[in-house]
Amino acid sequence: MAEEERTTEQHFARKRFGQNFLSDHNIIRKIIDAIRPAADDRMVEIGPGLGAMTEPLMARLDHLHVVEIDRDLIARLKTAHSPDKLTIHEGDALKFDFGSLVADGAPLRVVGNLPYNISTPILFHLADYAEQVKDMTFMLQKEVVMRMVGSPGTEEYGRLSVMLQYRFNMFRMFDVPPGAFRPAPKVMSSIVRMVPKPRAECTATDEALLGKIVTAAFGQRRKTLRNTLREFLDESGFAALGIDPGLRGERLSMEAFVGIANYVAARPA
Ligand code: SAM
Repeated sequence: MAEEERTTEQHFARKRFGQNFLSDHNIIRKIIDAIRPAADDRMVEIGPGLGAMTEPLMARLDHLHVVEIDRDLIARLKTAHSPDKLTIHEGDALKFDFGSLVADGAPLRVVGNLPYNISTPILFHLADYAEQVKDMTFMLQKEVVMRMVGSPGTEEYGRLSVMLQYRFNMFRMFDVPPGAFRPAPKVMSSIVRMVPKPRAECTATDEALLGKIVTAAFGQRRKTLRNTLREFLDESGFAALGIDPGLRGERLSMEAFVGIANYVAARPA
């Protein structure tokens, strides 16, 4: 696709903002039904674009928040909707403080047909708000969704799977073909629902350390844990944890990674 492609009389889709607008009304209805908005939900949509999901969401909600980066699209939204029904947060969702929407303690529902060029960083940014969130429903590249829900031992399983499965139960709901968008992306998309796990289920005492261990384990996928985790564990550590150091990171469950992080955190320096 060229940098800009005309999608309506007035708007050109901007590649740098990952703009592929939903145009298939059956798919839009299916996504809204999957979200199941209730009138009093505290909901935020990331990247409302030309409003394909925004308008049907607003029809079911008392109020909706949106976060949009493209000034032209913001201007269109402002003209079309009253601030009583729609609060427009102008700027980059990667820097947006989602916690500011739930200062009164009401849990947040997050939805969006996410710009594919920032899908991984936005998922990591949102993971920080897991405790304030009720659920999140996103459209993403199918390949990314397969990595999010990937199981140990599969090709898709990696850092994204472990770090998101640590915080969320995730469900791949259905796929959406390229023809449902204008302009059509080159790849298949999927809808994924993410529901935060109860905190006590499996907790790392030092989450930054968990992140470092998981990054190290998947940094060189073909190497064994003995090599990739050398900085964190020696042979006696692997033995104490009952983990074979000859395995690769892709064989370890999220719970096993949390076990390693907690063992390393508790070990005397
Ligand atoms: N929701 C619309 C739809 O389904 O047709 C648009 C989806 S389009 C894939 C992604 C939207 O996210 C665009 O409106 C784009 O301008 C916006 N966007 C891109 N990067 C963004 C960012 N960093 N922060 C907020 N919005 C962003």
